[in-house]
Amino acid sequence: MSAVLSATIFLQRESFIYVLYIIAFALFIQGLRGLAGPTSAVRGNRTAAVGMAIAVVATLLNREEGNWGLIALGIAIGIAVGVPAARQVKMTAMPQMVALFNGVGGGAVALISWVEFRNYGNSYAQGKLVVNPHSLHVFPGPGGIVGRAGLLPAVALHSIGPPTYVAIFSVFAAIVGSISFWGSNIAFGKLQEILPGRPITLGAAQQAVNLVLLVLALAAGVDLVAGAHSQLLFIGMLVCAALLGNAVVLPIGGADMPVVISMLNAFTGLSAAATGVALNNPALIVAGMIVGASGSILTNLMAVAMNRSIPAIVAGGFGGTGAVEGASGAGEHAGTVRSTTAADAAIQLAYANRVVIVPGYGMAVAQAQHAVRELTKELEARGVEVSYAIHPVAGRMPGHMNVLLAEADVPYDQLKEMDDANPEFPRTDVALVIGANDVTNPAAKNTPSSPIYGMPILEVSDSASVIVIKRSMNPGFAGIENELYYEPKTTMLFGDAKTAVSEIAAELSQL
Ligand code: NAP
Repeated sequence: MSAVLSATIFLQRESFIYVLYIIAFALFIQGLRGLAGPTSAVRGNRTAAVGMAIAVVATLLNREEGNWGLIALGIAIGIAVGVPAARQVKMTAMPQMVALFNGVGGGAVALISWVEFRNYGNSYAQGKLVVNPHSLHVFPGPGGIVGRAGLLPAVALHSIGPPTYVAIFSVFAAIVGSISFWGSNIAFGKLQEILPGRPITLGAAQQAVNLVLLVLALAAGVDLVAGAHSQLLFIGMLVCAALLGNAVVLPIGGADMPVVISMLNAFTGLSAAATGVALNNPALIVAGMIVGASGSILTNLMAVAMNRSIPAIVAGGFGGTGAVEGASGAGEHAGTVRSTTAADAAIQLAYANRVVIVPGYGMAVAQAQHAVRELTKELEARGVEVSYAIHPVAGRMPGHMNVLLAEADVPYDQLKEMDDANPEFPRTDVALVIGANDVTNPAAKNTPSSPIYGMPILEVSDSASVIVIKRSMNPGFAGIENELYYEPKTTMLFGDAKTAVSEIAAELSQL
């Protein structure tokens, strides 16, 4: 036997492939640990990416994987589209990017399930079929499940259909993957402003329509698992799930989009894990469950942060409408707005004992984080105690502010989560709000008709005075006016966040 042949046999041994998978899992988990903090996040991401590369190589080593031309073409297209897109995307457009990548994952899962169904001769029924030897399913053997199709004697391939649980997982993956693909596309369209951010709804009929679509998709799935021989039924199931994905996300307003993206992310993870069970691919099961579990935890955290209930999200009935269009802006409020200058703001800050910086989306747009860090250093050099109050949905993606401030080397212990920051405002001299709007809006507490009513906010008006840096009186993401700007203790410093913060720092250095 030649050395090359021996090496090939060794590399394709099931036990070797499983060892590679275990190494990949260890790297996934290590990577996830790294993602727990901004300082280790980049390393964590790279670690998990190496794990995924190993898992892909291990899967390709399997001797059933034969269509190398198609695989190479797929990888080439993926690299050509994905790498430039990921490199060029602006930080503020990251949520759309996540929605798009997430949708692609869900779509891939749905397509794989469809291909598998076709491989089984258009039925999942046990014992009724001639099985395609290229199919990747597991098969029941004398000692239980004995392995992948390619490892079994050929005779087994032609006499036994897939176990019922494989059919159930495949159908689950097809439905959830399809919902995730279409829902993510709608989320992308809303965030990219291709679609209106306001809720698009069928009114009172919405929930009934959602329910009918869900029941139809499930009924088709049950029929397929029971052995229905119909390509059309499978396509019908995918179409119902696709309509459901659209019907769930369209009625959700822009302000609630973060919860939706995270929920769809969890859906994609769970559908990928289900495909992993159906394909007997442990890497897919583990990676899918990690995404499903972390996505579910994140969804829950975000829902709590925005005071939304997850069942209401799934039913397409958010408490708030998240209106964006037709929002009230400058001039509609009866109160008076006091504007200030960089020089006055510098004096106010210089004589404060305690300053809390509240960053928001505007800081990200202006890329003001480095200027903010410089301002902090100036203040600290004068003995002012400075911290940052971070709202969980400030910016446009989870952890947006943490990532930006970590990039500017802001010490992590200066960042205070909302629950720790709020009790500190009453003993704060100046709250410096930099490009944050909705996350400071008292309407969330005081105005039941407001789309953000019930969302916990950073209670900046508890501090002795508030300086807000933004360019105009225009509203933020939720499209609503902010009462904070009319409070007597608030002054507005109008301008681009980076320029304004740099000007304050320059004034401070001359005091
Ligand atoms: P926001 O309510 O969107 O307000 C940002 C403010 O920044 C705007 O009012 C804008 O006012 C100002 N701004 C924009 N560019 C600026 C610049 N160059 N310099 C200075 N100011 C600038 O932001 P937020 O308070 O951070 O709240 C986040 C909102 O986004 C919430 O409604 C949240 O639900 C939503 N959201 C969050 C996520 C997430 O995961 N974190 C995802 C999607 C949506 P001017 O135009 O007057 O300057």
